[in-house]
Amino acid sequence: MSTIIKSEIRNRQRRVSLKADQKPPKASLAESGSEMVWDLLSKIPDPEIPVITISDLGVLRDVRLENEKVIVTITPTYSGCPAMKAIESDILFTLKENGFDAQVKTVYSPAWTTDWMSEEAKEKLREYGISPPIRNQKPPKASLAESGSETRNITCPRCNSSNSELISQFGSTACKALYRCKDCKEPFDYFKCH
Ligand SMILES: [Zn+2]
Repeated sequence: MSTIIKSEIRNRQRRVSLKADQKPPKASLAESGSEMVWDLLSKIPDPEIPVITISDLGVLRDVRLENEKVIVTITPTYSGCPAMKAIESDILFTLKENGFDAQVKTVYSPAWTTDWMSEEAKEKLREYGISPPIRNQKPPKASLAESGSETRNITCPRCNSSNSELISQFGSTACKALYRCKDCKEPFDYFKCH
């Protein structure tokens, strides 16, 4: 092995060990900081559906550190969703408790869609007794799209039967519709797609 290669290897080893011992440079400090904040915030449950978190839902969009201040970006699930105020104050409270000065920014565009919800979140919804949103399929008929009603068969979260009927467009909250399973006869909420 040539001495040049040997010294190159030594140099590399030195660089690696330096990297491990040294404090991370500013940029990555900000990065790891915002990751830490993200981890903190991603545990905040949705006020209406406590089994899923705001990051599961896709409401938590971004965390940035700006001059010692944490800037959190959220996108509401439904405009005028009353839960958003609660989410905002939960975020501020959690960060304050952990010694952060924070600000919450609400961004409406791009608009939240049920596609932002993680598969894990949909599974948790089902276990909780709420039928998760079904990805918007192209409406079979124009009239269906116009009426805006979701006439597709929604699966019952209890018995998995798709033999269900719509009872009301509004369930326990505006973002859910009330269905009833014709097999197990139980009513259930369906998280509406949009
Ligand atoms: Zn059922």
